[in-house]
Amino acid sequence: MSDEVTCPECGTSIDSTDELEVREGVPEVEADDDGSLHLYESRDLFLCQDCRKPLGVSRTS
Ligand SMILES: [Zn+2]
Repeated sequence: MSDEVTCPECGTSIDSTDELEVREGVPEVEADDDGSLHLYESRDLFLCQDCRKPLGVSRTS
């Protein structure tokens, strides 16, 4: 199943990773109420090629 993504920033429609910019190895971050940070496993972050708005992160099982 594939979903088409439309960039909410510039309106570009994206239906494959070929149309995304990928930043590899971006860690998941959890912020506590007191402001401290916890890092978890790294993900790939996908950004709009045109305006570089982050559109999503990879999902690993
Ligand atoms: Zn965009």
